[in-house]
Amino acid sequence: MHEERFLRTHRYLRGCVEPAVYRTLDCGLFDQGVARVRCPDCRHEFLIAFSCKLRGLCPSCHQKRELLWADWAEVELLEDVAHRQVVFTIPKRV
Ligand SMILES: [Zn+2]
Repeated sequence: MHEERFLRTHRYLRGCVEPAVYRTLDCGLFDQGVARVRCPDCRHEFLIAFSCKLRGLCPSCHQKRELLWADWAEVELLEDVAHRQVVFTIPKRV
């Protein structure tokens, strides 16, 4: 399909693109594999579907990684002071 529609204008896809797309499409589907989790206190059980763990392509997995990174940055990286973001740009000619 890509070759028919986009090869002339966008060139070949890298070999990793197609498997990543299919992994993302299978992310969170129960028929692709699950883990059974049991609460040690009440012994209630439930199933969690496996995720693709791809960043950038899968919105669900990407969001989870972003939240984990933000939590790590807040605990491990940043001091407990007010932070500001300053963007400094230089004109291309300079
Ligand atoms: Zn995913």
